[in-house]
Amino acid sequence: MTILVFLEHHEGELQKDSLSVLGKALQLGGDVDALIAGSGVEGLAVQAGKYGAKKVYVADDPALEKPLPQPRVDVLAKLIPEQGIDTVLFAATVLTADVAAGLAARLDAGLNWDLVDLADQDGKLVGKRPALGDTVYVDVGWTGEPRLALFRTGAFDPVESPAEPEVQKIETQLEDFSTQAKMIEQAHEESEGPSIEDADVIVAGGRGLGGPENFALVEDLAKALGGAVAATRAVVDAGWYPYSTQVGQTGKTVTPRLYIAVGISGAIQHKVGMQGSNVIVAINKDPNAPIFEYADLGVVGDLHEIVPKLTELVRQRAA
Ligand SMILES: Cc1cc2nc3c(=O)[nH]c(=O)nc-3n(C[C@H](O)[C@H](O)[C@H](O)COP(=O)(O)OP(=O)(O)OC[C@H]3O[C@@H](n4cnc5c(N)ncnc54)[C@H](O)[C@@H]3O)c2cc1C
Repeated sequence: MTILVFLEHHEGELQKDSLSVLGKALQLGGDVDALIAGSGVEGLAVQAGKYGAKKVYVADDPALEKPLPQPRVDVLAKLIPEQGIDTVLFAATVLTADVAAGLAARLDAGLNWDLVDLADQDGKLVGKRPALGDTVYVDVGWTGEPRLALFRTGAFDPVESPAEPEVQKIETQLEDFSTQAKMIEQAHEESEGPSIEDADVIVAGGRGLGGPENFALVEDLAKALGGAVAATRAVVDAGWYPYSTQVGQTGKTVTPRLYIAVGISGAIQHKVGMQGSNVIVAINKDPNAPIFEYADLGVVGDLHEIVPKLTELVRQRAA
C-alpha cells in the first residue's frame, strides 16, 4: 500500500486535521508520503516531519498561491501514477472537498467522504462513515485504485512522532483549463465578543430554535451575559450558524463556567464537547431530552417564551 496524505495549510501552519489524517495513515502501515502544495510552502515540510512524514513532496509555485482546486488536481493527477500511489487521504475542508472531487473525476477514481475511521481488514481498506442522519455507522470500500478518501473534521487527534523527512520538490504543470478560474476576493469572518474557546459563558443553540432567524434569541442572551454563541452540529449542517461555532465530537471542546443549552437534545456527540463546563443549564420542551440527565439546572418549556424573559431579567440585573 502506498498512501499519500494531502496536507492542507493556512497562514504558514499545516492544518491540524491534515496532520491527524497523517497520523491515521501511519497507523495503517505501508509507505506513507505527504504532499504540500502552495506558494512559499517548502518550510512546512519540517512541520510534517514532526508528525511522522518520512517523505514529503512539495509543489511550491506562485500558481498555487490561491486556494483554487484545479491546479492542485493537476499536481496530484501527475504525481499519483508517477509514484504508484494507490490511496490518497484528505482532511475535509472546503478546498480539499473540491480537490478530491476534481481528482476523482479526472482519474475516474472512487471517492469516499465524511469518513471517521479507516482500517486495514485483511489487506483491504475499509472506511467508516456515519449515515442516516448520523444514527448509524456504515463500512465503505473501493472497487479500484487509486482510492480517495475525505475525513470528517476532528475525526482523530494529531500524534507527534518526529522524523527527518526526505523532501522532494515537484514541478507544477498546469492544464490550460485549470488556470481559467480566478480568485476575486478572499474574506475572513469577523466576530464580536469572546471566542467560544475563551468564553466564560456560552449560550448554545440547537435545532429546537426552529430556524436560523431565531438565533437572535441566543445571541441576545449571550450578549446580555457577556458570553459567546455556540451551536450543535445539526444546526451548522443546516447552514443556520457558522461551522466555527460547533461544539462536540467533531466540533470544538469547551469548558466555560456557564453553558446554557437552548433547544438542544444533548446527544452524546454534543455532550463530549461541553461536559467539562462548570454549570450546565438546559432549556428544552421535552422533559425526557437526554440533556436533562447531565444538566445542573433544567427548565422544561418553550424556549420562545423562556429565553426572551431570561434575557430581560439578566439585562435588568446587570443594570
Ligand atoms: C460521528 C458523529 C459526530 C457528531 N458530532 C457532533 C458534534 O460535534 N456536535 C453536535 O452537536 N452533534 C454532533 N453529532 C450529531 C448528534 O448526534 C446530534 O444529531 C445533534 O447534536 C443534535 O443536535 P440538536 O440537539 O440541535 O438537535 P435535536 O436532536 O433535533 O434536538 C432538538 C431539541 O430541541 C427541543 N425543542 C424543540 N422545539 C423546542 C422549543 N420550542 N423549546 C424548547 N425546546 C425545543 C427538542 O425537544 C429537542 O430535544 C454527531 C454525530 C455523529 C454520528
